[in-house]
Amino acid sequence: MNAQRRPLIVGNWKMNKLSGEGRDLAQQVADSAGELAGRLVLCPPAIFLQAIAGLLSATEVAVGAQDCHANESGAHTGDISAPMLADIGCRYVILGHSERRANHGEDDQAVNAKAAAAHAAGLTAIICVGESQAERDQGLTLARISAQLESSVPGSSDEMNTVIAYEPIWAIGSGLTPTPEDVQDVHAHIRVYLGSILGADVVEQIRLLYGGSVKPENAEELLALGDVDGALVGGASLDAQSFLGIARAGSELAA
Ligand code: PEP
Repeated sequence: MNAQRRPLIVGNWKMNKLSGEGRDLAQQVADSAGELAGRLVLCPPAIFLQAIAGLLSATEVAVGAQDCHANESGAHTGDISAPMLADIGCRYVILGHSERRANHGEDDQAVNAKAAAAHAAGLTAIICVGESQAERDQGLTLARISAQLESSVPGSSDEMNTVIAYEPIWAIGSGLTPTPEDVQDVHAHIRVYLGSILGADVVEQIRLLYGGSVKPENAEELLALGDVDGALVGGASLDAQSFLGIARAGSELAA
């Protein structure tokens, strides 16, 4: 963690919780958020976004979506546009999560178009990249990440409207994590590579999150790394105390 970059801890609820459970979880997080340094973001399922955004509107906790469409409006049954998200109080949107890439066929070009749409709507895009186990085994991790950054990060990206989340696919929901040295190496590579696309000033300030089996027990070790500015948290974000435990680790390191 670097003192110049404000830590960011993002909870991706994925397709979990019913409405009352989601409200309770968001309220519990909000009740403790004021004591913590750094920004907390909750990303509930789309159907609960408006209710959770309303509940959190006067708190320190921001709301993000898990996806958006690349177009502003139109004949796209079942989709939600970035301006709609901004309109109901969302500030962030996760894009290119590996589950969307795998389950919905989203490629880097689609992620790029969605991120540009998010920027145009005033949202911060959390763009996910990460290698598969097979790519890692073949020594292709850095090449894979570079290719994803090259094609998924639009020219409209800057340190205010973009966050990059490094999520090794094999670490998501598996309980496995790369070694801290491996995480730092990949994050340092991302920062250098982004510099070649977005310029040195942007890259010094842009926040890079690590995601993949982050929990209170490993949060301090991961968040202490020099090029890790926060975490994208799946499973552990479904429990307020686990999510807050991760947020506390980030807050203590930032203090
Ligand atoms: C994720 O899916 O973004 C994620 C990081 O999940 P988990 O924390 O459960 O590995």
